Amino acid sequence: APNSPEARDIAYHLHSYTNAELHQEVGPTVIERGAGIHVWDNTGKRYVEALSGLWSVGVGFGEERLVKAATEQMQKLPYYQTFAHRSHGPAIDLAEKLVSIAPVPMSKAYFTNSGSEANDTVVKFLWYRSNALGKPEKKKIISRFRGYHGVTVASASLTGLPYNHRSFDLPINGILHTTCPHYWKEGRDGESEEEFASRCAADLDAMIQAEGPDTVAAFIGEPVMGAGGVVVPPKGYWQKIQAVLAKYDILLVADEVICGFGRTGNLWGSQTFDIKPDILVTSKQITSSYFPLSAVLLNERAYAPIQDESGRIGTLGHGVTGAGHPVGAAVALENIAIIEERGLVANAARQGEPLRAGLKALADEFELVGEMRGIGLIAALEMDPGRAKDEMAVGALGTAMNVALMRHGVIARNLGDTIAFCPPLIIDDEGVAEIIAGVEKALKDVSAAHG
Ligand code: PLP
Repeated sequence: APNSPEARDIAYHLHSYTNAELHQEVGPTVIERGAGIHVWDNTGKRYVEALSGLWSVGVGFGEERLVKAATEQMQKLPYYQTFAHRSHGPAIDLAEKLVSIAPVPMSKAYFTNSGSEANDTVVKFLWYRSNALGKPEKKKIISRFRGYHGVTVASASLTGLPYNHRSFDLPINGILHTTCPHYWKEGRDGESEEEFASRCAADLDAMIQAEGPDTVAAFIGEPVMGAGGVVVPPKGYWQKIQAVLAKYDILLVADEVICGFGRTGNLWGSQTFDIKPDILVTSKQITSSYFPLSAVLLNERAYAPIQDESGRIGTLGHGVTGAGHPVGAAVALENIAIIEERGLVANAARQGEPLRAGLKALADEFELVGEMRGIGLIAALEMDPGRAKDEMAVGALGTAMNVALMRHGVIARNLGDTIAFCPPLIIDDEGVAEIIAGVEKALKDVSAAHG
């Protein structure tokens, strides 16, 4: 119907990550409400939200405590700024809380609104720090192919995915990409996982040597890559990478936008992999996405030159209107309290086991699945178009799976031929079983058509 929400969405709403033809062809899914791990569309159809929105609604939908925290803060002080010396209680409390629960000793928390903005802030801080230290040539940042760090100009440059660069004239100068630690795809014949991890570190070392160690400021990575396809690094990877960085006085930035707040079975992905970041970026599950908020945590090594030397180069000229927004900060504090009180990090570790076991059994049963991977409550099925009976373009099998999953009431996400799962931290046995049952039905459909 011409006046339906779907028609008006197509007519007026320019979406991220699609084009007009696809938008028209697939048609919008209009979600109306949510409760717990489920959402309902405008036809009343129920779905299990197996991606937590965008890897982010940790405490699930309809959490009244967050509604109350936001409402009370809206009534008391709906907005105040945090430029220069202005402040307010929720921002102070949240900064203190984040420093106190950080995986390694951190000095300061700096607030922004999105993961992209937070990573852009990191790039600017790194540049500013190098200038403050009197090392203006030490500004390059090394990221990884298939890493995802956002879409603003600098963070899209850090992102290592072609469609975030293509036709945008990105990456900007001084941002480089090294080997993606995905053993299943990148590992060579006869190479063990450990040898592959060593090769990744050797590639990084060679890149630093080729560029000149005095020109490289930092390395950035997600503990587990999310949007690049749920890439769990091989054993020993992070130790070997950190050993290389230590040799050359290069800072380590952990992008915990997805991993933070329990996703990998510990509060931080850095704990799961024994990563010791100098800078840590968090967003998404910090508020369960009930309000946009992100934070950059800086240790003394990263922070001190920015402040102590800034007299020479002026005031820190960076900051956004919404930084440390009181409503977002109040929601984050309540959300973190819920995660702590309900033991949701331990629940993620616990429920991750049947989720991964269920997906693994399906991967073994269905020929079209190449690999199951995951850790904690984040996992993926890798569809292998090479095993399909028909010739399939890259991503076509993944898209077919996505459509079948939606039909069977499961919202996951296909990243090319990778199907990503990242359900809310509150999930129970029944929820896991519902996801697995839906995935099995979808795999049957897709196998019947293409297997
Ligand atoms: N970093 C990581 C690891 C992410 O997964 C994302 C978003 O998916 C971002 C950064 C960018 O965050 P945002 O979409 O809030 O800008």
